[in-house]
Parts: sequence; structure tokens; C-alpha cells
Amino acid sequence: MLKHGHRTRAGSVGFSRVLRDVAVHKLLGRAVGRRYIGAMVHTGIGYDVHQLVAGRRLILGGVEIPFSKGLEGHSDADVLMHAICDAILGALGESDIGHFFPNTDPRWKGAPSKVFLQEAARQAKFLEARIVNVDATIIAQQPKLFPHIGEMKINIAAALGMNVKRIGIKATTNEHLGFIGREEGIAAMAVASVDLKETEMPEASEDVPAAF
Ligand SMILES: [Zn+2]
Repeated sequence: MLKHGHRTRAGSVGFSRVLRDVAVHKLLGRAVGRRYIGAMVHTGIGYDVHQLVAGRRLILGGVEIPFSKGLEGHSDADVLMHAICDAILGALGESDIGHFFPNTDPRWKGAPSKVFLQEAARQAKFLEARIVNVDATIIAQQPKLFPHIGEMKINIAAALGMNVKRIGIKATTNEHLGFIGREEGIAAMAVASVDLKETEMPEASEDVPAAF
């Protein structure tokens, strides 16, 4: 356990405290007082849900799936791509998809959701980050999605400029429970990891936690 530093004389920080801070930051894998140029993996989470309605096409992962209903939304309502987009933006520490693409903007009316993923990839590039992997689950009572998973992965990998092997997609039902079970909507959840460059060393805190 590390104790709080003490001041040897008024206004100056004790040498033992400096040594302790060096040790603490080494423990954190950081260099004190230097620009840290290593990379660190950050994880983000995304969740989305859209209502299933008659008279709309069902688009999931960029694949048009034959079904009696489709997802309602301003864009093509690709719930899977939206969840993945939010996971990536979250890992980057950015605002969510609605911030980049307001659903009041006529430009995105009926837009293919791959443009949202392309924007998330552009944001990652801008921050000199590398998307390590994406993993997602679609929760839908109907229709059967397994036959389309491979094509979804290809579409998502293409939009993000990633190796398809780094894209995970699963589908599950909701065991007939709740709104998903009643086929009133489809949800998707996703996680994404990005290798994000740490550009600045946080200033050495006066109050380093007492226990590591
Ligand atoms: Zn959405």
C-alpha cells in the first residue's frame, strides 16, 4: 500500500514522493513527464432497437432478408450496423451515431447504414486508432438469420476496411418473450475494441489512490 506523500519543507514536494510517482506510473506502463506514444485497447458497447412494421424491407448487416415485415426508421434501419457503429464510436470516446447522423437530417432518409460504419472508420482513422475487432448479437424471433450471417460479416468488414475474421456476428431469438418475442421489433448489441493512441500523459495527481 502506498501512503500519501509528505512535504519535506513548505512548498516543495519530497523526493520520496517523486520516486513513488515514478514507480506508480511505471506500474501503469507510462513514462512520467514524457509524451506517451504507445497504444492502448479501448472497448465500446452499442445497443439499438427498431420496430418491425409491414411495408418495409428488412435489412440487417447490409443484407436484404426476405420477410413479411421490415424495420422502421429514418435510414434503412439496419439495427445491427447501428449497434456496431455506436460500439466503435464509444470505444473512440466519441458521441453516438445520432450525433453524427441526426434522424432529422433529410440526407440520411433511406440511407444505407454502411455510410454510418464508414464514418465510424473515418473517425478511427482520424484519431490514428485501429479497430481490433467487433462482436455483435442480433436478437430477433423471426426470421432465421443464420444463412445470412456470412454475407453480413463481409458487408461490415468492407464498410470498416477490416479483415472479415475480426467481425463476429451471432443471432438469437428471445424465446418468444417480450416485444422481440412477439415480433414487434429487432434489437442488436455490439462491442468493439480499438487500439487508441494515448497522446497525453495525465498530469501526476496530488491524490494518487492510496492502494493499487
Ligand atoms: Zn438504429
